[in-house]
Amino acid sequence: MRDETKCIHAGYRPKNGEPKMVPIVQSTTYVFNSAKEVSDVFDEPTKALVYSRFANPTVMAVEQKIAELEGGVGAMCTSSGQMASLMAVLNLCKAGDSIVSTSQIYGGTVNLFAVTLKKYGIETIFVDAYADEAAISAAIQDNTKAIFGETIANPALTVLDIEKFAKVAHAHGIPLIVDNTFATPVLCKPIEYGADIVIHSTSKYMDGHAVQVGGVIVDSGNFDWTNGKFPDFTEPDESYHGIRYVQDYGKAAYIIKARTQLMRDFGGYPAANSAFLLNLGLETLALRMERYCENAQKVAEFLETCGKVEKVIYPGLKSSRDYATAQKYLKGASGVISFVIQGGREAAVRFMDSLELVSIEVHVADIRTSVLHPASTTHRQLTDEQLVAAGVEPGLIRLSVGLEHYEDILEDLAKGFASL
Ligand SMILES: *Cc1c(COP(=O)(O)O)cnc(C)c1O
Repeated sequence: MRDETKCIHAGYRPKNGEPKMVPIVQSTTYVFNSAKEVSDVFDEPTKALVYSRFANPTVMAVEQKIAELEGGVGAMCTSSGQMASLMAVLNLCKAGDSIVSTSQIYGGTVNLFAVTLKKYGIETIFVDAYADEAAISAAIQDNTKAIFGETIANPALTVLDIEKFAKVAHAHGIPLIVDNTFATPVLCKPIEYGADIVIHSTSKYMDGHAVQVGGVIVDSGNFDWTNGKFPDFTEPDESYHGIRYVQDYGKAAYIIKARTQLMRDFGGYPAANSAFLLNLGLETLALRMERYCENAQKVAEFLETCGKVEKVIYPGLKSSRDYATAQKYLKGASGVISFVIQGGREAAVRFMDSLELVSIEVHVADIRTSVLHPASTTHRQLTDEQLVAAGVEPGLIRLSVGLEHYEDILEDLAKGFASL
């Protein structure tokens, strides 16, 4: 199946007389015929469903759809994108380990890595997304267990040279984790370029209607966990009667370990109802991504020529530092544009307050066009140094172009500029 078809049909194919739409299985638990059957599941966790803290049929239909879209062997949904980032890392690292991450990542992820995980003994070494192979290699230590980056960074909009990072990661025997939220598998499939684990905030384009917060982790099945750096994948798991993930689950070792250890112990699994809503969004993802890209390209070109903007950052513009990388990895540059307005912070505020159609919100990737001022909101917790590293200037506005008619969007932006 092609992406358009997978968006609609993957993960759930009803048989004779079954519901056409994936049913919402709103149940905490599942019934067994005998005591033996339930105890078997505790030896062999993939055998049957036991409890909706870590597996549910509605959620699993969506997991299957996303795994197929990304070209992975399996996926696990989480209650937020943050939970996906956290679990993707915790499935590899314990106290005393480290990861290497690009600096150009989502502010919430910077905070998770630089502040919170550090308190639990997991260190993050940040490298610039444009760093060369030698510089990335130099950041990797003996205890480094993964490299992390975003396909299209939020909000810096740098485009990750996935092959470069994958090559360095694999030379050091560690996996590459890619946050593919802004590109979605419709615009980029990082696994095809060597990413081992792909994560998403499904709250963004995958949902697209701003109705649920969620995340997902996808396992490519390609990484060799037997190279000696990941004993938790090859040694018996005492908490599951000696399961050995690689030996018992082969290519799906990573994602089954994430579910049976982390989701079992922490929770953080989405509700069936949320997965149902996410699935509705996914059904039109391929169609929507095309239009987001078209609209954003027109808006970015308008911003570049309107005379009120210092700089437009959009990887679909020829003037972008990332244009060539975008051409290589992306089918389209997605719907988010960052621009630095003339007049800095004050002008940014006046501009935003003058918009009528476009709303101010702490969200992106919705069908409705929205704006946000990262320096005073999502990136408020970062130091000036971190702000610069994350590509956030005081006058930077993040514009998430929606699916309204592009002329209505342009007219509203013109009102904002007229107020300056
Ligand atoms: C929003 C976002 C996250 C966090 O996701 P939530 O669903 O808000 O927890 C992570 N990465 C990127 C790139 C994001 O845009």
